[in-house]
Amino acid sequence: MSTVTAYAATSSTEPLTKTTITRRDTGPHDIRIAISFAGICHSDIHTVRADWGQPRYPLVPGHEIAGIVTEIGSSVTRFTVGDRVGVGCFVDSCRECDDCKAGLQQYCTGSGMTGTYGAVGRDGQITQGGYSGSIVVDENYALHIPDALALDAAAPLLCAGITTYSPLRHWKVGPGSRVGVIGLGGLGHLAVKLAVTMGAEVTVLSQSLKKMEDGLRLGAKSYHATNDADTFTTLRNSFDIVLNTVSANLDLGRYLTIVDRDGVFVELGAPENPLVVPPFSIIGMRRSISGSMIGGIPETQEMLEFCAAHGVTSEIEVIEPDYINEAYERVIASDVRYRFVIDTESLRRG
Ligand code: NAP
Ligand code: ZN
Ligand code: ZN
Repeated sequence: MSTVTAYAATSSTEPLTKTTITRRDTGPHDIRIAISFAGICHSDIHTVRADWGQPRYPLVPGHEIAGIVTEIGSSVTRFTVGDRVGVGCFVDSCRECDDCKAGLQQYCTGSGMTGTYGAVGRDGQITQGGYSGSIVVDENYALHIPDALALDAAAPLLCAGITTYSPLRHWKVGPGSRVGVIGLGGLGHLAVKLAVTMGAEVTVLSQSLKKMEDGLRLGAKSYHATNDADTFTTLRNSFDIVLNTVSANLDLGRYLTIVDRDGVFVELGAPENPLVVPPFSIIGMRRSISGSMIGGIPETQEMLEFCAAHGVTSEIEVIEPDYINEAYERVIASDVRYRFVIDTESLRRG
């Protein structure tokens, strides 16, 4: 075991503080990663603040990890020391169920996926995430980050990127697709970039027009404020697919009306309370509601290659670890353009 500096939450109400955690020795199939950057996902905040139930404290969040391999186990074949590497939302799964065999580890029906933080690993230890100087991960749950992608702007692809890429692929978005993106935050801005790159016509629905210039620069064809009631009249029956990336509960009865006949509303946001769906909002136009969770290892690697080929990365604000608590407040206030990424260099030094 080795020790490493990290930022941990100790309760749902206290700020995260600097601490020391342990990492396991590098087993035969493990790689040790010096973490260079870790993105702040809204899921980190939901988890720390116990929106989804009581997590296991102390909790080191962070599942958008980018770094460099510093050590490999004796049986490792996919990585070598010096490789640029990423880790996303899970670090293990049963590997035997149909879902794991299909490369859809996020839907593992055996043991379930082992989250990058706050889960119990095979060694019985509680997993701890990327707000730290290093991590040890089984090589089968790590990704190669292509040279074309800067590590800091690539980190958010490991969660926000794959979470938006996967449904766009699943519902076969391409030229001619009409895509609506609700919420221009971490997930939302990557949804816009990815859908535009796939050739779709993209519309953003944001709370106000404050970020309109950015939305259009990212490639959206149009941009609408949801605080303007006319938006829902203008956009009625307009989309083949809508990605809802909002972290809070919305009045779905209104938002569903923007989906066209036989279209799908894909819930990506994971707010604290249940979704309330008035029946006629889906009966009327034979609309569907679905959800989608991150993506499996093969698709995450495919997404990284796609982003490298097309120059897609996250728009980021790089911060020092001692700014994490302020960053959390700004994310909650939708005051982020468009992902905070922690430079973990000081944590590597101890
Ligand atoms: P984020 O950066 O905070 O973005 C969320 C956006 O939602 C905000 O930028 C804001 O956009 C909008 N928003 C926030 N509060 C709102 C409110 N009260 N009413 C209307 N709009 C509001 O968060 P994120 O990291 O992208 O994550 C978004 C959600 O996805 C979170 O719930 C997270 O847990 C979830 N998530 C799910 C998966 C998955 O696998 N399905 C993966 C990662 C994250 P505007 O300012 O443009 O209105
Ligand atoms: Zn996330
Ligand atoms: Zn499985």
